[in-house]
Amino acid sequence: MPVILKIAVPSPLPQLFDYLPPIGDDGPFRAGMRMRIPFGRGKVVGLLTGVADSTEVPKDKLRHAIARLDELPLLTEELLKLADWAAAYYHHPIGEVLATMLPVALRDGGSAEVRLPEIWMATAEGMAMDAATLKRAPKQAALLVRLQAHPDGLTRPQLEPDGKSMLATLRALADKGLIEQGRGANQCGSGPLAANSSSLELNPGQQHAVTAITTQKGFGAFLLDGVTGSGKTEVYLRAIEATLEAGKQALVLVPEIALTPQLVARFEARFDTRLAVLHSGLNDGERADAWLRARRGMASIIIGTRSAVFTPLANAGLVVVDEEHDPSFKQQEGFRYHARDLAVWRARVLDVPILLGSATPSLESLANVESRRYVSLHLPERAGIAEHPDMHLIDLRKQPLQEGLSHALKLRMEQHLKAGNQVLLFLNRRGYAPVLQCHDCGWISACSRCDARMTLHRQDHRLRCHHCGHESGIPVKCPGCGSEALYPVGLGTERLERVLGELFPDAPMVRIDRDATRRKGELDRLLKRAESGDARILIGTQMLAKGHHFPGVTLVGIVDADGGLFSADFRASERMAQLILQVAGRAGRADRPGEVFIQTHCPDHPLLLKLVNEGYAAFAAAALAERKVSGLPPYGHIALLRAEATDETAPMAFLEQAAELAHGAHAAWVRFLGPVPAPMARRAGRWRAQAMLLAPNRSPLQRCLGELVPRLAGLPGARKVRWSIDVDPSDTY
Ligand code: ADP
Ligand code: ZN
Ligand code: ZN
Repeated sequence: MPVILKIAVPSPLPQLFDYLPPIGDDGPFRAGMRMRIPFGRGKVVGLLTGVADSTEVPKDKLRHAIARLDELPLLTEELLKLADWAAAYYHHPIGEVLATMLPVALRDGGSAEVRLPEIWMATAEGMAMDAATLKRAPKQAALLVRLQAHPDGLTRPQLEPDGKSMLATLRALADKGLIEQGRGANQCGSGPLAANSSSLELNPGQQHAVTAITTQKGFGAFLLDGVTGSGKTEVYLRAIEATLEAGKQALVLVPEIALTPQLVARFEARFDTRLAVLHSGLNDGERADAWLRARRGMASIIIGTRSAVFTPLANAGLVVVDEEHDPSFKQQEGFRYHARDLAVWRARVLDVPILLGSATPSLESLANVESRRYVSLHLPERAGIAEHPDMHLIDLRKQPLQEGLSHALKLRMEQHLKAGNQVLLFLNRRGYAPVLQCHDCGWISACSRCDARMTLHRQDHRLRCHHCGHESGIPVKCPGCGSEALYPVGLGTERLERVLGELFPDAPMVRIDRDATRRKGELDRLLKRAESGDARILIGTQMLAKGHHFPGVTLVGIVDADGGLFSADFRASERMAQLILQVAGRAGRADRPGEVFIQTHCPDHPLLLKLVNEGYAAFAAAALAERKVSGLPPYGHIALLRAEATDETAPMAFLEQAAELAHGAHAAWVRFLGPVPAPMARRAGRWRAQAMLLAPNRSPLQRCLGELVPRLAGLPGARKVRWSIDVDPSDTY
């Protein structure tokens, strides 16, 4: 009987491919091993998903695999199962799903041996040295103290948990003969545990939460909610400690590591060498190494962003998802998975508890609490931290505005600055102004490739499209009529900074947005100035909304709340509420509580009023009631079918054909809405359209997609467009 290898290949084709074993290799062949195979005219690395004893491929077409790359399966059974499930659920080709799960270096066929890492350790002389004598070089002294505490040495990732290079300091110490570099296996993952254990006494809410999680036998999903500063992170740390004490591993997902250095620093301080941080500063080799160490149980805690959800665990004990509502957990292209949802799936299969934390839980998770799929753990306020901060609306209607700022807000700023406090202004729009306009003929700075305006960036003297990256110089004369009366319209962070500079010339300011932090190290520098109180006014986009705590800030101004109320996207108001509270959470501390002022043109908006007067829980209940009435998630289930092409009519034509197919499919219960042109019908030179499939339950939607998706590629219009399917889309445009 022949041995036929069933191999998943990273390609848009959904099926598995059949191969004969490599010549001279008798196996064993086990699912999860990588195989190098001839594919088309090239060679690729595929993943063995199983073996069969027959194939439908004709004998003369059947080829031998070239080589088996692993002695033991690289992917665990559990991850193979996850891939199968996710490929079916998201209707995405299994080969691409599996490729997404592997770190790039392994995907490309790199070695699965854990490299002996480069480690640094103190020399005999360094061990004997009193670090205090290095007081003129505090960085060196601190480093030496750490290495003295770890006679086995530490790796660069362990020494540099935030990715900032310490090489210069290491070299300086090495030059003095105090430390040396070698390669070897320090006992990663076996460092002292709980040596740094916190002496904090948990409050009753925290104690209840920790007990619930640590006494949970097997799978259980917990939603931990509590305002910023209520002690959620402390609960994570204790639950993880208990997990490690039981000899198990914890996987921790966070939205963005660069923006949460404080969180990572606290994990680092508590757990030290047992931690593997998958931050963006790692190169492919280091990333693969962390993955492999987790696979072999050599790292006890893995912290990473979205893709870390695919980290294999030798001995899983706990999964934590911090800021579970954060939209960055949803992958927006290719394999469009949701990391939080996959994390819950994994926890179920691994039969371990999962802890989802947020100050502003997603409506999905709240609905899961309502239906008793998740257990709610609520941390009540601690002294001085208001459950819902003191929020006020500023009605902008008919008010004279100075560059978007109302008199009321300016007055408040003045008072808080005078009192010696810091002020934070949030405006989620970078650049100087969102559009440049001609006063004489009405010309506007439209992007030639998108249905969008080019944003004016005054400092760089550029017009930039934030959707496609297209840019140009700033015209001196109107391209339409030659007039010189060109004016910036609207407000961006750059302009806000300038106005505030004029209004409060004595208040040092920092602006934190993608433009201001482009240079390496700049984000850190600006955050330090904000934290230290050096800067009195902080201006920022949502970069400023995450992770950090600025105790000196007592006033938060939301410059423009209206964007979130009038978007075509049904999640816009939820996002806006979450952002407002996240920004509000940056402010204040016990002795100086913060207040929040929100500028809006619609002070009567019912959801906004709920949020301001009654807080997030009341807002969420009202928003959920609206979703229920309209049958939208989390009560309905949707998938979005998108198409785009350089040809204007092709996307709509393709989607019309898809609509016909859908009506023919067993689509009772499933509504096919559209097709319609996308809200931004042209982007980066391509025309875009979309259709939505909506069903009251997951199973009819899945059945319908199961019939529809495999037939889409065969539609006559399919070759003329790029199409994709997005199950549980996070943006519906
Ligand atoms: P969150 O993650 O909800 O924002 P943290 O866990 O970061 O809250 O806690 C906020 C601050 O309060 C931190 O400085 C933390 O060290 C401190 N803290 C947390 N729990 C306690 C406690 N039980 N007793 C005293 N301080 C605590
Ligand atoms: Zn003009
Ligand atoms: Zn553009």
